[in-house]
Amino acid sequence: MTSPGRPSLNIAVLYPDLLNLYGDRGNARAVEERCAARGIDTTVLGVGIGDDWSSRQADIVLVGGGQDREQRRVQADLQRRGEDLREYVDNDGVVLAVCGGFQLFGHHYRGWDGEIMEGIGIFDAVAAHPGPKIARCVGNVVALWEGETVVGFENHGGRTYLNDGQQALADVVSGFGNNGGDGLEGAKVKNAYGTYLHGAVLPKNPRLADRLISLALDRRFGAEAAELPPLDDSVALRAHAEALHAALSARESALGRRFA
Ligand code: GLN
Repeated sequence: MTSPGRPSLNIAVLYPDLLNLYGDRGNARAVEERCAARGIDTTVLGVGIGDDWSSRQADIVLVGGGQDREQRRVQADLQRRGEDLREYVDNDGVVLAVCGGFQLFGHHYRGWDGEIMEGIGIFDAVAAHPGPKIARCVGNVVALWEGETVVGFENHGGRTYLNDGQQALADVVSGFGNNGGDGLEGAKVKNAYGTYLHGAVLPKNPRLADRLISLALDRRFGAEAAELPPLDDSVALRAHAEALHAALSARESALGRRFA
């Protein structure tokens, strides 16, 4: 909804019917609600395969995760939008790409059957699934982002490796993150954020949600509009604390088993 005189943001959700694992569409709801609570209007637009859409119409682009099959279905359409989305990110456009979406926003993802799906190269990263016999990375994640915890749930077979110079989003405290080996979680290029965290991630991590909103406001309306008044985050923070507790107690019992 938009009303005259109020700031308004356009949120685009890419492939909401296909890339929406573990409630990733909740990320759009979190942005909408946190904006509404501050008198900022939002319009949420789902962008499907073949839709006539350009990122010029967007202030925040969200893309979720999906199984390999769904990733394969969207791949050609995403390629067609690659140049437009790269330009959007170059122009400080805000992106949150989760799991399967994060993989396709890198250079490519090699699926569980070995087939390569070309990505759009926003993140300088490649992802590969080591094959159906290798365990998936599943569980609750805690990572440190700018000195604060971010929490979420991960379930991916693919492992992401960042090329030299590609900044990670966060450092893993508990869970697998990008590949279960280098302790890195996600990636960040300008205002584009990639992560393996489902959850949905934004409702449980209100600071991260506000970061995306304020980057988008800054880009469209200037720095003054980007100052967000605080909200009562008691419910979000309780969800955050519960996810933190679940992840850390799972880690403790795993460590206990290892050293018992
Ligand atoms: N299909 C991808 C993988 O298994 C992405 C999964 C996801 O989005 N949760 O790695």
